[in-house]
Amino acid sequence: MTDFDVIVAGAGPAGLAAACLLALDGRRVALVARAQGDANDPRTVALMQPSIRMLLHLGVWPGALKSATQPLNKLRLVDDTGSMFKAPTLTFDPVELGEDAFGWNFPLGLLIPALFSRARELGVELTGSDAASASVSSDHISVTTSRGERVTARVAIAADGRNSVLRGAAGIKTNTWSYDQTALATSFDHTGPHDGISTEYHKVAGPFTTVPMPGNRSSLVWMERPARAAQLMALPDAELATEIQIGTHGELGLVSNIGPRKLFPMQGLVARDFARNRIVLIGEAAHVVPPIGAQGLNLSLRDAAQAADLMEGEDDPGAAHILAEYDALRRRDVQPRQQVIDLMNRSLLSGFLALEGGRAMGLQLLSQFGPIRRAVMKYGLAPSSGLPRVMRKDQGSKPALIA
Ligand SMILES: Cc1cc2nc3c(=O)[nH]c(=O)nc-3n(C[C@H](O)[C@H](O)[C@H](O)COP(=O)(O)OP(=O)(O)OC[C@H]3O[C@@H](n4cnc5c(N)ncnc54)[C@H](O)[C@@H]3O)c2cc1C
Repeated sequence: MTDFDVIVAGAGPAGLAAACLLALDGRRVALVARAQGDANDPRTVALMQPSIRMLLHLGVWPGALKSATQPLNKLRLVDDTGSMFKAPTLTFDPVELGEDAFGWNFPLGLLIPALFSRARELGVELTGSDAASASVSSDHISVTTSRGERVTARVAIAADGRNSVLRGAAGIKTNTWSYDQTALATSFDHTGPHDGISTEYHKVAGPFTTVPMPGNRSSLVWMERPARAAQLMALPDAELATEIQIGTHGELGLVSNIGPRKLFPMQGLVARDFARNRIVLIGEAAHVVPPIGAQGLNLSLRDAAQAADLMEGEDDPGAAHILAEYDALRRRDVQPRQQVIDLMNRSLLSGFLALEGGRAMGLQLLSQFGPIRRAVMKYGLAPSSGLPRVMRKDQGSKPALIA
């Protein structure tokens, strides 16, 4: 294993999707990773229609994944802060956009192995060890693995997560911040039906979000102050079930059969450059957002699809003009979205009356005015600047480069 067209570092969902896309485009791809990402991850990920179209293009959807996933028929925001400015409950319905569902909810522990086996089928070569360092010359990049093996290519996709080794090798700095919150992720059975509705209860320590799974089961992302999250993590199943039932106000009936749980400390990160020195950042190597509005992996898959679009048919997929174009396009999608998520999260945490009033007024406007609501739903699904080719409804041609 030595010379390739593209190196992808990291076998999480973003890296695996990028490796599959590039292999489908006829590139020789090396996947620099120890093994596939964590197949025991207890999270589910809500993937919106554009991401689903990409999975269809990759050949991993619907297939065996379909029966393990659940359509997201509606999204509901409930003001559960107890604030004096109580916002009305807001329901987003995809029928208003001419869609049956916003997307589907996938267990990450099934999505990762499905992408991994597809990558192997498409001829992606796995190093079996992580990236330890990288060096760049005028026309190549060389990555050395933790076993001392050297792999070269014209370009490397850094999908090696928030502490990306490749990002450091490219000399790219980040802005990072943390929130006084930890998310508890788990899943549970309930006696009542969810009707395909995901509900985000906005509480004073952050959102408490149920996302429907097949049958009478839902996944949960519960954002709490770190000490409280640690307490919840340590509770016996039956006591956690009671807490979840209280959190949902019994709207899903009796709660039981708690699945595996894991804590995720809440951080934000944005890279100052999204590509430089033959290295393209995707996924959490480029941006980390709190799990609000199901944006994280949807953004990451757009990174992968955008990189593949720009590299398609190019003799040198790591050329400086391609990387500059990628940087401009992804910055336009990621940064405003990251700011909206940050504002929504901080408006819950601040306890500042003016911010609470502003949030309530915003939700009131959204519930009353269809055009604003539809604009917000469209923005939640896709950037206004357009989608990469494999995510579009018409799967059209390559977008023109910005002059
Ligand atoms: C509680 C929670 C719920 C979420 N829900 C949603 C949702 O509903 N919808 C949504 O769109 N997003 C959601 N997200 C966000 C989503 O989970 C992340 O965006 C996504 O998992 C990031 O994928 P990634 O491949 O970029 O990073 P990772 O999953 O972190 O993958 C990085 C991979 O790189 C590997 N790696 C690390 N260092 C190296 C190295 N040196 N060399 C090679 N490999 C390396 C790691 O082992 C790992 O496998 C959620 C996040 C959280 C915390």
